[in-house]
Amino acid sequence: MSKITRRPLPKSKSGVAKRAGNSKPRAAAMPKRGKAAAKATTKSGPSRAAANKPKPWTSTEVREAFSRFRKANPEPKGELEHLNPFTLLVAVVLSAQATDAGVNKATRALFEVADTPQKMLALGEEKVRDYIRTIGLYRNKARNVIALSEKLIAEFGGEVPRTRAELESLPGAGRKTANVVLNMAFGEHTMAVDTHVFRVANRTGLAPGNTPLEVELGLERVIPAEFMLHAHHWLILHGRYTCLARKPRCEVCLINDLCRWPEKTV
Ligand code: SF4
Repeated sequence: MSKITRRPLPKSKSGVAKRAGNSKPRAAAMPKRGKAAAKATTKSGPSRAAANKPKPWTSTEVREAFSRFRKANPEPKGELEHLNPFTLLVAVVLSAQATDAGVNKATRALFEVADTPQKMLALGEEKVRDYIRTIGLYRNKARNVIALSEKLIAEFGGEVPRTRAELESLPGAGRKTANVVLNMAFGEHTMAVDTHVFRVANRTGLAPGNTPLEVELGLERVIPAEFMLHAHHWLILHGRYTCLARKPRCEVCLINDLCRWPEKTV
């Protein structure tokens, strides 16, 4: 049997092995979770997003960017449909690795029959599963929705708690869920970092970071308090409709003169 030998990749001047094909820097993507993430970090070092840190924005530039977002959309709204803090919490838990549109399609009917923890519990896991079976990971999510309803009744008098620690203690709820609920239901100045916010913060250079937490803390540091209530939605909507992952629409971007991304097309 012939032995397969691999030739080493040619090296660039900097000593970094070059790959054939597309050598353009990629848009910053959310890091992988768990073991895969640990492997990726130890094998390839810190991500390119952090390695090529752009010049930080000045406070005048940040203020200018958010003033433009505010002028264009003074009252931005999230796109997850909900009726009260409880249904918002459930919708956010269901939205992990799913689109808001997909979640809304399932929850419209679900929330008609179960808009409180008590009604959700009475509906039962099997029926919840039927309502949400078009959403990815629906079995796990149905289990979590029932478990968090039970916990809300047992420990919080049937109300959605108002602290991060309590929210994060609920089944299926992590830091992002807590941030969304604190911001949208209770008007706190939190910054939930989803894939869109992560990409926009890294590409523009507004708050570069390797992890959602780094980006969250960076954004909280640079965004003036007067914009924080809506900053999360402005950045999500910007990422979803303008600074698209594959083909950012730089030509119509409100902040194209401020953006630091070397690949921007204007
Ligand atoms: S200029 Fe392009 S890359 Fe920069 S924020 Fe706007 S859409 Fe995104």
